[in-house]
Amino acid sequence: MKDAVTAISLSGKDAAAEIRARVKERFARLRSSGVVPGLAIVTVGEPPGGNPYVRSKTRAAEELGVRALVTRLPESTDAGVLRGVLRELSLDRAVHGIIMQLPLPAHLHEDRHLEDLAPEKDVDGLHPLNVGRWVQGLPAHRPATPLGVIELLRRQCGDLSGRRAVIVGRSRIVGRPLSVFLSQKEAGMNATVTLCHSATRDLESVTREAEILIVAMGRRKAVTARHVKPGAVVIDVGIHAIERPEPGGPKFEGDVDFDSVRAVASAVTPVPGGVGPMTVAFLLSNLADAVEAQAGAR
Ligand code: NAP
Repeated sequence: MKDAVTAISLSGKDAAAEIRARVKERFARLRSSGVVPGLAIVTVGEPPGGNPYVRSKTRAAEELGVRALVTRLPESTDAGVLRGVLRELSLDRAVHGIIMQLPLPAHLHEDRHLEDLAPEKDVDGLHPLNVGRWVQGLPAHRPATPLGVIELLRRQCGDLSGRRAVIVGRSRIVGRPLSVFLSQKEAGMNATVTLCHSATRDLESVTREAEILIVAMGRRKAVTARHVKPGAVVIDVGIHAIERPEPGGPKFEGDVDFDSVRAVASAVTPVPGGVGPMTVAFLLSNLADAVEAQAGAR
């Protein structure tokens, strides 16, 4: 890695397109043997106008010939109804993958409902059985965003063995699984990982140690040049809609202040167009794994 540079913008668009193309071939093979891949998404209490993440997952799945089914439940849905929906989808042979869109409203318990999913259909990799398996390094559905981040890092940095990686944010869907995957003793991984959160003291001094800095904290532009070691590779997972965008200007921003950080880092992912497309591509790849396993195709 170089010192004091203007960073390259580490796009995820091309890599995601390659992954989607491979998934498309897998789905085509399945369809030619009579299997139509099915993805179910369950939302509870969508915002007015719908959830943009659900729209983009559904659109991307349908583009590859997947039968996508969205079940929209009202905000007031009780645990019994949600459990019934998830269990019914788990038994439905036309559905190979299920996403329970998170977060759920406060009166529902994510942990309990993740256990209502059939583990083999849990394409987000969050059922305790899948979590237990991936923590042990065993084959399992694994969360898509961390897989996308790792693929971007693999392409940009090559072997991560011994590299100093700092992750800001310990969510179940991004930061925590990334800390597990990157620190696993396996080819290409094997990094030295620090996982930061809201109780981390003197965040800047920790993040400035990172050769690889991954930010998933859900705070707009919270990471600036001050947090970044010269030459570091910075991955911005955060995404926030800009409330009143300038005409012709950006509509989204990340957890990283791109303009400030690019003067210090060697590479930074843009928002949008960095991690987002990789997440969708790996979600579809997880779905292909699920369909093939359930169709007995491998
Ligand atoms: P999250 O549930 O929003 O949690 C945020 C994490 O950041 C928590 O672990 C929190 O610590 C930590 N944090 C908050 N403020 C902090 C601070 N000042 N210093 C250090 N740590 C701090 O996390 P998430 O679900 O991973 O989402 C993070 C962002 O990524 C959001 O913008 C989300 O929209 C975006 N996202 C994008 C994708 C994609 O595909 N691009 C996918 C998933 C999420 P505590 O644990 O102590 O509260």
